[in-house]
Order: sequence, then structure tokens, then C-alpha cells
Amino acid sequence: MCNGINGDCNPRDGAVAKEARQNLRERAEQLLQATTATDREGRKLLHELSVYQIELEMQNEELRRAQEEIEASLTRYRELFELVPVGYLILDKGMIKEANLTAAELLRTPRVALAQRPLSQFIASEHQDLYYLCCQRPFDSCQTRSIELQMVRPGGDRFWALLSGLPAPGEETCAPGCRITLTDISERKLAEEQQRIAAVAFESREGMLVTDTNGHILRVNRAFTQVTGYSPEEAVGRTPALLHSGRHDPAFYRAMWEAIRREGHWEGQIWNRRKGGEIYLEWLSISAVRDPAGGVSHYLAAFSDISEPRAAERKMLELAFYDPLTGLPNRRLLLDRLQQSVVSAERNGQYGALLLLDLDRFKTLNDSLGHPAGDQILIETARRLSGALRDTDTAARIGGDEYVVVLEDLGPEEIAAAASAEAIAEKLRAALEPPFGLNGESRHISACVGITLFCSRGQGMESLLQQAELAIYQAKEAGRDCVRFYCASMQEAVDARAALEIGLRRALVKDELLLFYQPQVDGDGRLTGAEALLRWQPAGQGMVSPAAFIPAAEENGLIIPIGRWVLETACRRLALWGKDPATRDLQLAVNISARQFHQTDFVAQVRGALDQSGADPSRLKLELTESLVVRDMNLVIQTMRELRNIGVGFSMDDFGTGYSSLAYLKRLPLDQLKIDQSFVRGIPEDPDDCAIAQAVIALGRSLRLHVIAEGVETEDQRVFLTQQGCTAFQGYLFGRPGLPDVIETMARSRNLFPLSSHEVSHGQTL
Ligand code: C2E
Ligand code: MG
Ligand code: MG
Repeated sequence: MCNGINGDCNPRDGAVAKEARQNLRERAEQLLQATTATDREGRKLLHELSVYQIELEMQNEELRRAQEEIEASLTRYRELFELVPVGYLILDKGMIKEANLTAAELLRTPRVALAQRPLSQFIASEHQDLYYLCCQRPFDSCQTRSIELQMVRPGGDRFWALLSGLPAPGEETCAPGCRITLTDISERKLAEEQQRIAAVAFESREGMLVTDTNGHILRVNRAFTQVTGYSPEEAVGRTPALLHSGRHDPAFYRAMWEAIRREGHWEGQIWNRRKGGEIYLEWLSISAVRDPAGGVSHYLAAFSDISEPRAAERKMLELAFYDPLTGLPNRRLLLDRLQQSVVSAERNGQYGALLLLDLDRFKTLNDSLGHPAGDQILIETARRLSGALRDTDTAARIGGDEYVVVLEDLGPEEIAAAASAEAIAEKLRAALEPPFGLNGESRHISACVGITLFCSRGQGMESLLQQAELAIYQAKEAGRDCVRFYCASMQEAVDARAALEIGLRRALVKDELLLFYQPQVDGDGRLTGAEALLRWQPAGQGMVSPAAFIPAAEENGLIIPIGRWVLETACRRLALWGKDPATRDLQLAVNISARQFHQTDFVAQVRGALDQSGADPSRLKLELTESLVVRDMNLVIQTMRELRNIGVGFSMDDFGTGYSSLAYLKRLPLDQLKIDQSFVRGIPEDPDDCAIAQAVIALGRSLRLHVIAEGVETEDQRVFLTQQGCTAFQGYLFGRPGLPDVIETMARSRNLFPLSSHEVSHGQTL
């Protein structure tokens, strides 16, 4: 064996050992190198580990600090949310989800009670629409929406609030979910209101000026300029010494300023000078205006010119609020008083009443007796009405012959209140009963009264007046001289009238009108002509009588086109009759309504209808009524004369029902009087009717006018009228109104109505 270390082996052994040593060394070196590398890696790792640990700790620290900051900020936010002087609400579909303390306080409702209540419950009823409108419209991109409205607290107490809303993220409108701030702006509103009032007050009838503490004029009002003659431009910046008249010595002004300094106020008479140099006396009042700290900030002077007679001022007031003819309150003052009465009725739970009184046939009287007599009637009526009322009741004249009486305190029961109102209405009518002395004659004047009751503010002033008007309308319909209450059925009647108007317009366009003809005969029963009577046949319905639609057509003006149609149709018929020997001598009477006659081109219309048709003017007879001729008598006469000149004749229809007076009858170029059927109806039983018919016939004879009786239904009537000297007739006895061929057949058969020989001979003797 060889001891390799000390090298005393064989050479081969020595080489091996050397190689092994070499390997060993290399391995040792490798090991050494590896150990060193690992050691370095390890140390590096250790180092990194410790750095990482430090960073981690730092991050932890930061996190903790951030956490603390978030908590502090949350606390601050909470405090802000609770204590900010603006109400803050979070809504979900209009329901309050969360509210801050201020909101709860503003709404005077504990927070728990606020939760889940709709915010709308706190909005005043008159502003609900505004609230919904504002909250439900889409928001413009990212804009808050603000509205000012009145809110109501649980006790009913109100305040003005500014609501500003922001939609919840992702929402388009305020409604489903949003945040709302709520600010009490009552004080600002009050200040604004006071400012507005102050502005109005400043523009009062008194002259006013405001100066600073140095006496320089800052502002003047319109009345200042009116009294002094100085415009605002001329006065502002100057001192009131501008107006000094020289009539007061310095001691006067010193004493005045001392009083203002001492008491803050002075008033008295003072002579001032206008811009034009004229000196005038005014009543001046100066007040010191103080700022919140108590110091004087301005002076306010108000004055009125007292050199002008006070009477002029009073007169102006009177003109503004009183009817100059009767001295009663006018419509303006009435509406004001009515408003007060309605408010007080609601407050006291008492009924009040509005009475509208309208004189019967005043227009006819006014036109026929002359306007001075008409004025006398109005003044006397006012005097009698006022005399019949309590001091607390208001009587007013609101135009023409319409008077209004407002009654208060009629008690809490509707029926009893109505009874009291009716009793007072009757008392008023009774006051008008004694005859009125006019132009040396005594006249009876009657009136209709329309009544409507009120007890709550819900009824507007104008609508109350309209209701009373409807009631009056009923009273007139019922034959005048009576009292009627407003009721809902009247409204229905008004609606029906509106429907009638629509129907009539359609009738004109759709050719639904037609003319009927009723025979007129002479004393021998011989056909002399006919009266054209209008009919309306709406599609699929029965015939409508003109009595049902002519008054409405008169009121709404449709009578103008309707009347034109009647004239043209009647003239065409007349022209046709003119071509036939059997009918060419027939007269045709056409009814003309007042409104139609008073058109400025009425003569041209009649002429046009005659020319176009080729009808003979002397065969046309226009039937007028008394109410038509009493208005603008001279004009009426002129129109009638113009038509007469071309051959047209005139008959006075319904004679005796209007305002009959010999004076006008004598002046009118009439051909015929038509005794109204209401008098014929009572013949021969009713002595009054007999007497009236007799009088009309006698009147006709003395005025050399023909007289025709209409509505003759019985042989007795015909006999009586004939005996009195009536020579023309119309009525069911001789034929009902019908289509034109009835007249034509009758004419061709030369129809003589069966008269007894006695009457015929009697008729012939006249
Ligand atoms: P009025 O002009 O006095 O016509 C007479 C009315 O008495 C007609 O009614 C006629 O049918 C009716 N009558 C005729 N004989 C008798 C009778 O023996 N007994 C009874 N109880 N009645 C009789 P109508 O056709 O209903 O006309 C009513 C009123 O309508 C007319 O009264 C007239 O004022 C108006 N009117 C008719 N047609 C027209 C028209 O074309 N224009 C205008 N403005 N008014 C017309
Ligand atoms: Mg007639
Ligand atoms: Mg008549």
C-alpha cells in the first residue's frame, strides 16, 4: 500500500494521488465558491426581507392614518349634515329616506316621523303642481333645480322655502331618488313683499321724497312731480330748499328740524313754491328713517296739496267708484264689497246673497219717453232701493238698468237664507210698485230679480254675477215682474243654448231652413196673400218652431244671415207667383227682426233680394214689431221711407204687446196693424181682449191703416172681429202654415172660405 501523502509510493501511485489532490482542491475551491455565493444570496435575501418588512410597517402606518382621516372626515360630514343651517333630505320615489336635523326642525317634525312620508305632504296645496312639475321634468345635464314654494308644517303653519334638488346618480328626474336641500326663505319673501308694498305706497296719491342725512334728494314719486312741477331729474341731488316759498323765516325751519331730531317726526302746513313760481299750501309730514343700528339713514317727506279745493279730489274718487247718475257704488266698488262679503260669509259660516235687479222694458221706456225721463227712472229706482235696505247691505248700479244688492248675515241654513233673500227681493220689488211720475204722467215700473247665494270663497265674484244673470234670465222668461233663484239647471239651459247656436250655424250651411206660408184672407174669405214663416228641420229630427230659435239667433247675431236667407227665399217665391196669373196679386208678408232691420245696409239688402229675384216690390210687406221701431225712431222712419219709395209695404206685427203709443204710430209710414193673437185668443169671452181688439180696429180706422187679426181660430172670433170692422184675417181657421203649393192650390181654386151670408154682407158693407 502506498502512503500517498508523503509520496514514497511507486510513481504510478504518485500520479494518482496528485490527480486526486488536484480534484480535491478543485472541488474545495468550487465548494468554497458555492458557499460564498450562497452566503451572498442569503445575505441579500435577508436584506430584502428586512426592507420589505419596513415597507410593510410603513404601509400599515399609512393605512391606519388614512383610516383615522376617513373617520374624522365622516364625523365632520355627520356634524355638517346635522348642523348645517340648510335642510337636507334624501328622497326615494318622493318618500323621505333620510333627513338632517335642520330639515326636521324646519318641518317641525321629529326625524323618525319624517321617514317614509312623502315630501309632497309638506307642500302647500296651491304649490303641489309646481312641485310635481319641477321634480318630474328631466334635469338638464348636471344642473340642480331650484323652486320657491310654500310649505306647510303639521300645525298648518306655513313658510316659504327654496327647494334645490339634485337627481340621484344615474337618475334623470328628481322624482325617483334625489337629494334635496331646503332653505327657509320666509324672511326674504317678507322683505320682498314689503319692498313691493313700499313701492306701491311710494307711488301713492301723496307727493313723496326721500333725502339722505345731508338733505340731498335721492328719490321722488310721480305725485311729487304732479304737485311741484319738478321732474325726478330736476329734483334728485338738490335739497328741498328748491321748493322754499320765502314765506317762512329760518326760525320756522329750525323748529321743524329740532322736532324731527327730537321725535323723529314733524307734520304741519307749509307754503311751498312750484316750478312755475306759484305758491301753494301743502300738508307736509317728515319722518326720520332709522337703520337697524338705530341711526338715522334717510328722511322721508310726504305731502298733499291742500290749496286745491278738496272737492275736486272727492269728485275723482266718486267717479272712480260711484255711478255718477244715481250716486250708488259702481261695478268696481261692488266687486270689492262683494269680495269682502264673501270672505266674511266664509269666516262666519253665514250665507250671503247677491241680488241682481233688472227693470222690465226699461229700454223701450227710455227710447220712447226720452233719455231725461229714463234717467229719472234710474235715479228714483236707486233711491227706492236704498230706502228699502239695511245700512249694512250694499246696493250698486252696474250699468244700464241693472242694480245689484249684496246681502250679508243671512244665517247658516241655506233654505232659511234663501227665504230671507227672497223676502228682501220682494220688498225691493214692492218699493218700486208706487207709480213713477214721468213727464207729468204716472207710470208703473216692474222689475225682475235674480238671486244667488254664497257662503264660500270658492265662488268667484264674476261667476256669482253670472249666476244672478242666469236667474234674471229665467225671471224674464217667466214673464217678467218676478223673482228667480239661480240653480244648476239654468246652467244646463245655457249649455243647451250654446248647442242650439252650433245647430243653427249648421242649419245655414246644410240647407236645413225652409219657409212655410200661412194664408191671409180678406173679409170675404178671399185669399189675399200669405205670411212667410221660418222653419228649421235638422237632419233626422222634427220641425223646430222659430219661437224656439229666433230669440237665440237674435242674441248671437245669427239672425243676420238667417234673415237675409228668408228675404231672398221669400222674394224668389214672390217672383214665381208673379209669373202665374192665379198668384200674381198675392202679397207676401216677411217678418223682420230688430237686429236685422237696424243693419246699415238693410235697404240695400231688400233692394238686392228684389232685384235678383225680379219680384214686384209692391207685393212685399215687411212685418216689424213695436220694440224695433221705438229705437232711433228717426232712423227707422228714414229706412221705412226709403223702402216705401220703391214700393215695399209695412205691417206692425203683434200690435198691442209692446209699447203702443199714438205719438210714434202717427209718424211711421205703416200700411197695416196686426192685432196680436194673444188678444184674439180671448174673443169673444174675455171682455178685456174684446175691448183691446175693438180699440185697435178703431185706431187703425182713425189712422187710415188696414187692420189684420192673426191667430183667428174660430168662427166666433172671425164674426166678432168682422163686426168691429176688421177686414183681414190670418189663422188656423183659414189655413195652417204649410209648403207654398198649399197657397198656390188655394189661389188656383180661387178659394173662398165658407162664410155665412150674414157675415159676408156685413163684411161687404164695411
Ligand atoms: P208672428 O210673426 O206673430 O207669426 C204668427 C205665429 O202665430 C206663427 O207662429 C204662426 O204659426 C202662429 N199662428 C198662426 N195662426 C195661428 C192660430 O190660429 N193659432 C195659433 N195658436 N197660432 C197661430 P210661428 O210660425 O211659430 O212663428 C212664431 C214667431 O216667430 C213669429 O210670430 C215671428 O215673430 C217669428 N218668426 C217666424 N218666422 C220668422 C222669420 O222669418 N224672421 C223673423 N225675424 N221672425 C220670424
Ligand atoms: Mg209675423
Ligand atoms: Mg204676430
